Amino acid sequence: MSWYRDEVKEVIRKAGTDSDQGLSEKEAKKRLKQVGPNKLDEGKKISALLVFIGQFKDFMVLVLLAATLISGLIGEVIDAITIMCIVLLNGVLGFVQERRAEKSLDALKELSAPQMTAKRDGQWVKVPSIDIVPGDLVRVESGDRISADIRLIQTNELRVDEASLTGESVPVQKNSQSLIEEELEVGDQENMLFMGTMITQGNGIGVVVGTGMKTEMGKIAHLLQTTESQVTPLQLRLEQLGKMLIAVALLLTGLVVVIGLLQGHELNTMFLSGVSLAVAAIPEGLPAIVTVALALGVQRMIKRKGIVRKLPAVETLGCASVICSDKTGTLTQNKMTVTKLWSGGRFWDVTGTGFEPKGSFVENGKAIQPIQTRELAQLLSFGLLCSHATITEQQKDSRFGRAKTQYVLDGDPTEGAMVVAALKAGYSKEGLAKQYQIVQEFPFDSTRKMMSVIVKDRSGQRILITKGAPDVVTGRSSQMIDQNRTRKVDSKTRNELENAIADMASQALRTIAIAFRVLSPGEILSNVEEAESRLTLIGIQGMIDPPRPEVKQSIAECHEAGIRTLMITGDHKLTAAAIAKQLNILPDGGKVMDGQSLSKLSDQELAASIDDMYVFARVSPQHKLRIVQALQENGHIVAMTGDGVNDAPAIKAANIGIAMGITGTDVAKEASSLILSDDNFSTIKEAIKEGRNIYENIRKFIRYMLASNVGEILVMLFAMILGLPLPLAAIQILWINLVTDGLPAMALGMDQAEGDVMKRKPRSPNEGVFARGLTWKILSRGFMIGAVTLAAFWMVYQEHDGDLTRAQTIAFLTLVMAQLIHVFDCRSEYSVYHRNPFENIYLVAAVLISTGLMLAVIYIPSLQPIFHTVPVSLREWFLVLGLASIPTVVLGGFQLLKPKK
Ligand code: ATP
Repeated sequence: MSWYRDEVKEVIRKAGTDSDQGLSEKEAKKRLKQVGPNKLDEGKKISALLVFIGQFKDFMVLVLLAATLISGLIGEVIDAITIMCIVLLNGVLGFVQERRAEKSLDALKELSAPQMTAKRDGQWVKVPSIDIVPGDLVRVESGDRISADIRLIQTNELRVDEASLTGESVPVQKNSQSLIEEELEVGDQENMLFMGTMITQGNGIGVVVGTGMKTEMGKIAHLLQTTESQVTPLQLRLEQLGKMLIAVALLLTGLVVVIGLLQGHELNTMFLSGVSLAVAAIPEGLPAIVTVALALGVQRMIKRKGIVRKLPAVETLGCASVICSDKTGTLTQNKMTVTKLWSGGRFWDVTGTGFEPKGSFVENGKAIQPIQTRELAQLLSFGLLCSHATITEQQKDSRFGRAKTQYVLDGDPTEGAMVVAALKAGYSKEGLAKQYQIVQEFPFDSTRKMMSVIVKDRSGQRILITKGAPDVVTGRSSQMIDQNRTRKVDSKTRNELENAIADMASQALRTIAIAFRVLSPGEILSNVEEAESRLTLIGIQGMIDPPRPEVKQSIAECHEAGIRTLMITGDHKLTAAAIAKQLNILPDGGKVMDGQSLSKLSDQELAASIDDMYVFARVSPQHKLRIVQALQENGHIVAMTGDGVNDAPAIKAANIGIAMGITGTDVAKEASSLILSDDNFSTIKEAIKEGRNIYENIRKFIRYMLASNVGEILVMLFAMILGLPLPLAAIQILWINLVTDGLPAMALGMDQAEGDVMKRKPRSPNEGVFARGLTWKILSRGFMIGAVTLAAFWMVYQEHDGDLTRAQTIAFLTLVMAQLIHVFDCRSEYSVYHRNPFENIYLVAAVLISTGLMLAVIYIPSLQPIFHTVPVSLREWFLVLGLASIPTVVLGGFQLLKPKK
């Protein structure tokens, strides 16, 4: 249907909606049932069965199955069936891990799913894009990603980036007028918005006319790539490492087999043992386990309000050395309250807190009636006219059954504060609407740092009202109100103004100036620049925005973790400095730079001086990109926050781009790799901590798995070299692999961070996984595990005059117990003595279950022949536990002697 040709009224009628109330929730639900969810068809997902089958694709597992089949045929039926069962169980374990990782990553996708603002039952509400239906009345604004096809019915300087659909990279202007042409191309339909495009400026209202596959994007959806899975650099590196380790394991296993044959062992026993050893020793699960560790960590981050959008960021988080944070809403609460007003050299205080419209106006300690002071009345009422925010009263049941009144803000908190101040003086939107009709708007943007509306009063006179950063607005003012007269703005008044602004700003107040200009009757405003000039300044409103209480502590923790925090704000230099001081971001004598001075520096000069800077004030989003680049030039790993459309380039360029979940635009969110669902700085700190922990947990895994594998191979290799019988039966080797690699390894992924993880310096991104002595730890512990197992075997073999089954049982038990004890050592960078072993109850439970499984195969008579075991006596248990503790307890003890770095 060519919606662009219809008049607005016709569009509303055809879409079956109401231009005032929108759709009712009931109708929306009904339509959703009829047309289905608003999403593009995705490519087919891999079915659970395929994931399960995938567990057995591994080459060595196939060889093992073939070998088992052969041994089954030559008579070892029980062995063959047991091996099959173990392989199957291993497959189930791998399957569970993989599904779990996948599920938590899917949940993540849902969390960062886009929303749209739609009118339902007369109220603007946020609706998940997937539930939007044709006929929904929607409101769009700068930074939104459009997720349906929309016919516009009202626009305000609306510009849209349609590159994803038309390839046109310059944003196109939109309006709501109907077009008469037929068969217009998508790019020429100026009154339509399309799914997949982005609003770069302005705002508008429209009616949804197409959803899901019935959109222009839906028509070409098959051309779009399906979601690609993300692989982190560490996963890639480990995959390569895994390949190398497979080669090493195969080589060593081959060696075991060859030496065994030379020593006179039987071919088929050697073959089955060799293949079992290869299956056990090959760390095929390494990349999968890393995914599990990442997924588990990502889940923990969600609980702490950090939503990871790009998996590689989890790794980079641990390397972050600088956080560049927005001020408003991230470091502060964004709960603004106007507390001071200035006009024509006079100051007034405003009492009251929060958004409750109760408070009085005080001048020099005396309460006054603001409406009776002309400039004050104008400062407040024009502030209200120029604000979109609304405050609604809501009743909330308190715990004691009494209803409590709450004042809820819808809109920008800066504007909310001005609305509340006006309400306190007795003004209301409805009251003012009788006097003034808003006819045009120039929306706020953070580069201009201003916004304006044009109102028509009852006599038909048009007045432009501007509000914005005082330094910008005063720069565009030629006169100012001074009590009952207007004064020219000259160098003297400018001085006066600057002092007033500085006075308010140094008290950490955010300041907004209000100005106006009466337009001459025929005046046509061709552009914003032209419109917002020759203004008459009325005065300044100053508002507090208290710091978030927990942020100071977080900044201190970051400092201790070797991470610098920089404040980057569009706010005034003195306001920013005052808040930065309160939060200990700005040390005594620390430097504050404003956007203007920054513009004058070359890239090199900026990089040379940036390490001395703590606060960047009055910056534009473009400056943020330069700040990121300068920091990176100095070798920093930068985390940068942002919320607006223009912040996207800086967010993208940063090593960790962070977007605000509440105030952030879709564009910023899409550019980011981490979203803060509570907009809070402390969440960044938590995410960094979790990022460091995830990396450490991956190292713990690797250390545990590889040391275990080294132990398994060495015990066999030593035995063959020494001409001893096989210390472990094939089934035992496979069983060890199952009980030790399964649950305990998974539980390591849930391990808590070691106490000092936020006291260490950030990790260098170039650091290898095996850095900080990990190779030595793996080899030394692995060697010891192998040695004590062989010792146990040999001692019992000697004592019982070559009772192979008994000696193998002891070796089997010693090897498993040594690994299960060693797992506790892996939890610490230092030694087993540095952490409480009962801290991670999952690990304790996993170790107990694995021990229980071992007891079962040793003591249940029916299992004994299958696993080639005999019951172990108490005395033998002492031997087993004594030897099995040595690798961890003794080597850990040496570690204890070393000073803690
Ligand atoms: P941050 O970058 O830390 O979030 P900020 O909110 O001050 O700081 P911007 O939103 O870019 O950054 O605002 C820059 C300046 O523009 C503010 O200091 C204020 O003076 C002015 N300003 C902010 N919001 C509005 C608004 N709704 N209308 C008019 N002026 C505004």
